[in-house]
Amino acid sequence: MDSQKRTPKKAGYYKPRKRTCPFCARDESIDYKDLAKISRYVSDKGKILPRRNTGLCAKHQRQLAVAIKRAREMALLPFVRR
Ligand SMILES: [Zn+2]
Repeated sequence: MDSQKRTPKKAGYYKPRKRTCPFCARDESIDYKDLAKISRYVSDKGKILPRRNTGLCAKHQRQLAVAIKRAREMALLPFVRR
């Protein structure tokens, strides 16, 4: 190995971004009646946002999907919005 070859330190190196699920943080469960919470995770087209957008953990993303589907059945949320 050539010790002269130094890798330059990058200025903006990977920052350890805290990725906490807001529902885990407060130890909450997701309720289909809680539209204030749920509607934040639905796109303007009425679709459930993917995990990369919601930032939820697997458990709560699953709960959220079920809650949204239930809310749709109860006509609290639209199936599709155009
Ligand atoms: Zn969570």
